[in-house]
Amino acid sequence: MSEPADPTAGRQCDGASLDGLQVLVTAGPTREHLDPVRFLSNPSSGRMGYAVAEEAAARGAAVVLVSGPTALADPAGVEVERVTSAQEMLEACRRHFVGCDVLVAVAAVADHRPVERHHQKRPKAAIGASLALEPTPDIVATLAAEKGDRLVVGFAAETTDVVASARAKMTRKGLDLIVANDVAAPDLGFGSADNRVLILAPDGQRQELGPAPKRQIAAGIWDFIAGRLRADGTG
Ligand code: C5P
Repeated sequence: MSEPADPTAGRQCDGASLDGLQVLVTAGPTREHLDPVRFLSNPSSGRMGYAVAEEAAARGAAVVLVSGPTALADPAGVEVERVTSAQEMLEACRRHFVGCDVLVAVAAVADHRPVERHHQKRPKAAIGASLALEPTPDIVATLAAEKGDRLVVGFAAETTDVVASARAKMTRKGLDLIVANDVAAPDLGFGSADNRVLILAPDGQRQELGPAPKRQIAAGIWDFIAGRLRADGTG
């Protein structure tokens, strides 16, 4: 059964228009299967990414949402492509990245996948005490390396040294902005309806948003992005 991404969300919005902008958003977790019934994943609900996509569409952008498995209904006015693994998410994003102006990577991509993927269910006894893993592709870093004039925004869920860790991540992945959230805060972040974030730019510009419902956080993020696009002369 699917549920609305944010029950408090309305279609009204007073923020900066995104008319004419092509937006690509990633959301949700990925699942890295060991066999058809077992996988590695994380508790991301997808709500933050869906709110980012829905808010952009409400402001007039043409939005593609590449989503991992979630229980959420497709956001209004958004083209949704559903994928399962990080590899599939990368392939879908590559196809849509070519025509986009802004990528907002909200997905909580699983960091590792089993080296071996079995297409039949493995007997319990055949699974040893340890599992050989390999890193998944870093989607946002891969695309940021080929971004040209596009604006690439990443997210960072941190529990300690939030600002320093997020800044280091922005530099390492070649991002134009990073949205950091402290997932150690009780009732905020992963899976919750509300969030509190800090947006950081390489030039030192920063903005705190929330605590607020994820749709309101998404509105603040788009106001910030629209301001950066205007300052670049590309918006
Ligand atoms: O490295 P970390 O997972 O903390 O980075 C978070 C940011 O990188 C998010 O924007 C997330 O969507 C993106 N990411 C990705 N591909 C990965 C891992 C993270 O696009 N394999």
